[in-house]
Amino acid sequence: MSNIIDALTDKVRGRVITASDQDYDDARAVYNAMHDRKPSAVIQCVDSADVMAAIAAARENGVDLAIRGGGHSVPGFGTVDDGLVIDLSRMNHVRVDANKKVAWVGGGATLGDMDHATYPFGLAAPGGVVSTTGVGGLTLGGGIGYLTRSHGLSIDNLLSADVVLADGRQVTASDYQNEDLFWALRGGGGNFGVVTSFEFQLHDVGDVVGGPLFYEFDDATAVLQCYRDYIAEAPEPLGCFFGWQIAPPLPFIPEDRVGDLFCVLVTCWNGPHAEAEQVLRPLRDAAEVKAEQVGVMPFPALQSAFDDLVPKGMQNYWKADFINELTDDAIAVHIEHGKKTPHVSSSMHLHPINGAAQRVGADETAFGHRDKNFAPVIVGIWPDAADNEANTAWVRDYYAAIHPHSGGNGGYVNFMSGDDDHRVAENYGANYERLASVKTTYDPYNLFHVNQTIAPANRR
Ligand SMILES: Cc1cc2nc3c(=O)[nH]c(=O)nc-3n(C[C@H](O)[C@H](O)[C@H](O)COP(=O)(O)OP(=O)(O)OC[C@H]3O[C@@H](n4cnc5c(N)ncnc54)[C@H](O)[C@@H]3O)c2cc1C
Repeated sequence: MSNIIDALTDKVRGRVITASDQDYDDARAVYNAMHDRKPSAVIQCVDSADVMAAIAAARENGVDLAIRGGGHSVPGFGTVDDGLVIDLSRMNHVRVDANKKVAWVGGGATLGDMDHATYPFGLAAPGGVVSTTGVGGLTLGGGIGYLTRSHGLSIDNLLSADVVLADGRQVTASDYQNEDLFWALRGGGGNFGVVTSFEFQLHDVGDVVGGPLFYEFDDATAVLQCYRDYIAEAPEPLGCFFGWQIAPPLPFIPEDRVGDLFCVLVTCWNGPHAEAEQVLRPLRDAAEVKAEQVGVMPFPALQSAFDDLVPKGMQNYWKADFINELTDDAIAVHIEHGKKTPHVSSSMHLHPINGAAQRVGADETAFGHRDKNFAPVIVGIWPDAADNEANTAWVRDYYAAIHPHSGGNGGYVNFMSGDDDHRVAENYGANYERLASVKTTYDPYNLFHVNQTIAPANRR
């Protein structure tokens, strides 16, 4: 391995970090501290040429290869024991063309990097709800966030991608070039190559009216029922997800309520500010609002509002399904398990994926579940590895109880844990076979397998 690393060090302009470097532990750490893996080298690439060199080194020497964008993967796909890691975090440049409303975003940019660059133009591309998340992994899996109802998933706004393939070539994938690859990239995860640059359609998003509404946990049935019914029909500029939330010590939380469990609706109104009061009224009327921080704020401020609740270095274990319908029986199960929410960083989030996201056909991109209305995720996040058993048990028990209410659909690949590997086919539904075929074309030897692997058709 040392020969491989020496040769790579000569070739790349970025850094090749190994166990002999002082910052090796920093360089190998990913977001989910459960994955304490020790790669042979972390290659901090600065351009496509570096990525090509790293891919060639892995391919020619039969070494495991992990690709890291923002490093947020809950299963820890941004690292690998005894292999090479392509770390794209230095490739986070964003270029905006405000006239065309287009941005070119480096493969290692975070949502925060992207928002920072687009906000001054009064523009944004649909992303998620936490600014430290990588644009790379989030987009390649789909991309669900505040702007989903108004402008679709992140992939629905992807115009093209520059991709370094397993054979070392860089190609551009779009509706006009390498169309099969472009189709697969939009939902198929990191299976097909390393995206060095994403080209996104931007939308007019500047200051929004948004933030969380806190309700008593005891009002959760009314809040969930109101949310379910209202979000089905609400104006599409309204993004809003439901969650459980142990109250953190924040200025807008009454001091004597810190540590109490609430249910929250986190809102983002990207329509005319004068209409916000009327649009949010049905949600405010669901039950008495006990605390809130809803107001006019820059979109990047809302996108980063919860970053401190979910810092890097915690233990993470998540589980997810897609659902069509949130029945009253399912609400009862959510409440039974939601009341045991064990930590301020843990929750169940119910993200709506209706509106613009449903106007894209199920076979137009690899993200196959276009008829589903919600992407719920049980989010287990806690600081201490000594508590892993109790916290993973909370997620598992909650999931075991709610899964029968999901209708047997798959789940969102980006919300899965490592032990959900067996669900890859159902997560893609009818698109799985076509994905396997594209994989066979672009990565026949499965070089890119540290991910929710879609096995090439010839390797199953
Ligand atoms: C705190 C938190 C909040 C989240 N919020 C949301 C949310 O609001 N909406 C949502 O949709 N998802 C959300 N997610 C899930 C998130 O989309 C996934 O964790 C996603 O994989 C993160 O991408 P990343 O680049 O940060 O991760 P990484 O661990 O770097 O990568 C994840 C996967 O993508 C691949 N990959 C990453 N970049 C590239 C690239 N440039 N080219 C090729 N392959 C690449 C990797 O190989 C790996 O398989 C959240 C996750 C966390 C931890």
